[in-house]
Amino acid sequence: MPSSYRSPSHFPVLQSTQVRSAADRAAILEAPGFGRYFTDHMVRVDWSKDGGWDTGAVLPYAPLTMDPASMALHYGQLIFEGLKAYEQPDGSVATFRPTANAQRFQNSARRLAMPELPTEIFVDSLHALVDIDRDWVPAGGGENALYLRPFMISTEVGLGVKPANSYAYLLIASPAGAYFPRGVEPVSVWLSTEYTRAAPGGTGEAKCAGNYAASLIAQAQAADEGCDQVVWLDALEHRWVEEMGGMNLYFVYGSGPTARIVTPSLSGTLLPGITRDSLLTVARGLGYTAEEDKISTDSWRADAASGALTEVFACGTAAVITPVGVVKSAEGEFTVGDGGAGPIAMQLRNALLDVQTGKGADTHNWMHELTPSRTA
Ligand SMILES: *Cc1c(COP(=O)(O)O)cnc(C)c1O
Repeated sequence: MPSSYRSPSHFPVLQSTQVRSAADRAAILEAPGFGRYFTDHMVRVDWSKDGGWDTGAVLPYAPLTMDPASMALHYGQLIFEGLKAYEQPDGSVATFRPTANAQRFQNSARRLAMPELPTEIFVDSLHALVDIDRDWVPAGGGENALYLRPFMISTEVGLGVKPANSYAYLLIASPAGAYFPRGVEPVSVWLSTEYTRAAPGGTGEAKCAGNYAASLIAQAQAADEGCDQVVWLDALEHRWVEEMGGMNLYFVYGSGPTARIVTPSLSGTLLPGITRDSLLTVARGLGYTAEEDKISTDSWRADAASGALTEVFACGTAAVITPVGVVKSAEGEFTVGDGGAGPIAMQLRNALLDVQTGKGADTHNWMHELTPSRTA
């Protein structure tokens, strides 16, 4: 990175003196996996009760120095987002619906009594980091992307329980390989009736770290039952399907052009995924009936048995769409369709990926350019 580097954003830049060599970077980009390697820089913007948001800066990626009594470490005010930047066919880098992530970040902040980061600062930070670390964006043409992880923590020092009076917003980035390097494979799921992810009035709608901490034991139980993922049910009756704990769910009834595609309604206890929301639109654009409704585990089992239910899939930023094959619970086991990846799941997956990677037309104006082509 030449020292004449000028950020396209309003952030001042402190360039890293330890930028990895082109050879090291190429070796990492060869097989990045997920969330294992981080780029050379990060963005930080601090908030204080008296001063509001500061100017912020692009900084060298480095460990944070924190007082051990920082409130985030004790009371868990920690929210995050996740989105991907893809190299486009023209060499520019673009991301998908970043203002939707910015708004969800604000909603999460409100629920955890944290300050709301303005959308402009959120989007500007994406520009700043992707621009300075442009060389870390995997080559386009496939499903590789640069995963962007915005997050916010409370930084006030003290053990009194209250909303903190200072916070840090941070953005880091990590190259990510294709989620299914050997082709899309269906997952098996465990219906959890012992544990609850979210209850009415709780934090299920917020993308906060604590939701994940509370879910790990059920994920471990699913693994013990021989399943890949846990499916969460409602807290009151353990009967209504909510989500997969990191991905939302979709149910396909029938087949061909008359298929009906249903996702559990946003009841206040599931995370409003941006992939989930986008797929309602994509599915309707392809001519399907797509709607939100309540789905019970009894109807899941009965409709799979009768054949009315033909496909189930999960969706989220990381995998886009993951088919669900086998379903296990305390009451036994059943299979949806033939247990393989269904044609509608794959059609929707390709349609959404085509928009994100620039292969297909962006008819809804969902793509947002973060940095132009190098030759532009
Ligand atoms: C992030 C997340 C999702 C998926 O949201 P996308 O915006 O589609 O990536 C689903 N469930 C939970 C619990 C999540 O944290």
